[in-house]
Amino acid sequence: MPLPRHARDMPALFDTHCHLTDEPLAGRLEDVLTTARKHGVHRIMVPGYDPESSRRALALAARHEGICAAVGLHPGRLEPGAAFPASGLRTLLAAGSARAVGEIGLDYAGPDHDQRHQREVLEHQLDFAREFDLPVILHCRKAFQPLLDILRQHPGIRFVLHAFGGGPEMAAAFLDLGGYIAFGGGVTRPNARRVRRTAPMVPADRMVLETDAPYIGSHTVPKPLLEPRHLPDIAAALAALRGMEPEEIAAVTTTNANRLFRIAANS
Ligand SMILES: [Zn+2]
Repeated sequence: MPLPRHARDMPALFDTHCHLTDEPLAGRLEDVLTTARKHGVHRIMVPGYDPESSRRALALAARHEGICAAVGLHPGRLEPGAAFPASGLRTLLAAGSARAVGEIGLDYAGPDHDQRHQREVLEHQLDFAREFDLPVILHCRKAFQPLLDILRQHPGIRFVLHAFGGGPEMAAAFLDLGGYIAFGGGVTRPNARRVRRTAPMVPADRMVLETDAPYIGSHTVPKPLLEPRHLPDIAAALAALRGMEPEEIAAVTTTNANRLFRIAANS
């Protein structure tokens, strides 16, 4: 079967957020990576969400060309009352191959969340980012204002706001702090009005692409089935919203992701 036109002509795509450590992707990793490459996706950032997934993300990056990894503790993984696993995360970061601290952030949407504990753990990890000179991959639900407040207290932190679903004003506040905005399956959905309004106003040098597979679906692919190979659909949707060619979106978002994670373009 011939590949679709975009697979042949598209500059290399970078999926900046994909949980290859998790099922159903982990069990068929070789197939996922081969199909991704056939569809033009040549680099994938795998964030950790706790020490164990971070360790596995680093192991994947060591074994596979084109995979890079981040180390972090996700706010949704905080056990009530449990101590922050600082030494475990720090050992992984000190090993030197992580390209980012993440995914970290604030999630005030879940039940029984402890806002103060989440803020402390986030600040601890922002300190790691400064110490190891790494960007951070931020997750945020129902906590945009507290997240902005914390970032303003940590000037100079390089960051990407992942799975962004907010409106233009919210995006502008994060862009003012120098951050990148990651667009995923949301831009493919006709009813995702806020993010579709935001997509055209983000400067071209501040946007990146992601699938967040297997946790977010697109308009046509339900979430457990989404894979990095679907990233061209997200690029095409973002291109349509911005009046750009998908090839231009691919080129600028890959350049941006390489700059953010300090990856040599030809590596
Ligand atoms: Zn994630």
